[in-house]
Amino acid sequence: MSLITDVRTLQEIDDEVAALESSLAEVDARLARSEALEAAEAAFAAADAAFQEVRRAQRDLEAAIAALTAKIVPEETRLYDGSVRNPKELTAIQHEVEHLKSQRSGLEDRLLEVMETFEAASAARAAAEADLAAARRARAADIEALEAKRADLAARMAAARARRDAQAARIPPASLRLYDDIRRRRGHAVARIQGSSCTGCRVAIPESIRRKTFDPEALAQCPNCERILYVG
Ligand SMILES: [Zn+2]
Repeated sequence: MSLITDVRTLQEIDDEVAALESSLAEVDARLARSEALEAAEAAFAAADAAFQEVRRAQRDLEAAIAALTAKIVPEETRLYDGSVRNPKELTAIQHEVEHLKSQRSGLEDRLLEVMETFEAASAARAAAEADLAAARRARAADIEALEAKRADLAARMAAARARRDAQAARIPPASLRLYDDIRRRRGHAVARIQGSSCTGCRVAIPESIRRKTFDPEALAQCPNCERILYVG
């Protein structure tokens, strides 16, 4: 078999290894994170925060109303139990009770408004929680499938690398170094001559170099991009 045939086979195996590496990187990226799950987590966190805020506002208002009631009740008792007889003082207590009741009424109105938003916030939180649970189940299934895919790719990669080593061993060291060097720099070390041009860089190939591609023991290179040339 000619040297160029061995080099082309090596390039095919390297292409396969590169494709497997890219597939593995993609699988690893998908294993590392899921945008869908992150979005569901963020949506639940936002809905939960909104719900907690409504609940906190409700508790605060209820506590403030209870505190006002605790002030109003003894004042009203003093108004009617006969313990205060001074009319001025009674009027002052009455004003104070009215003031406290008016304050309480304002808080009660706000509490009603907050309670009206409670149901919606609670429903939104429950919906986001269900979405998050579904996203977590989907993610678990994805991870299972991705791990199976990863194991398959890793096995194929190990086999391709073993074939790569075997194929590289068939090529004389100087030619292998040349091939590896061009592949590192160009990504692809081998190019076909089509018409009379290098398919790697589109530059015309002189006839003397074209003839060299038929030498079974030598490698012909493009004078422009240096890729190893073949005809076929
Ligand atoms: Zn070229």
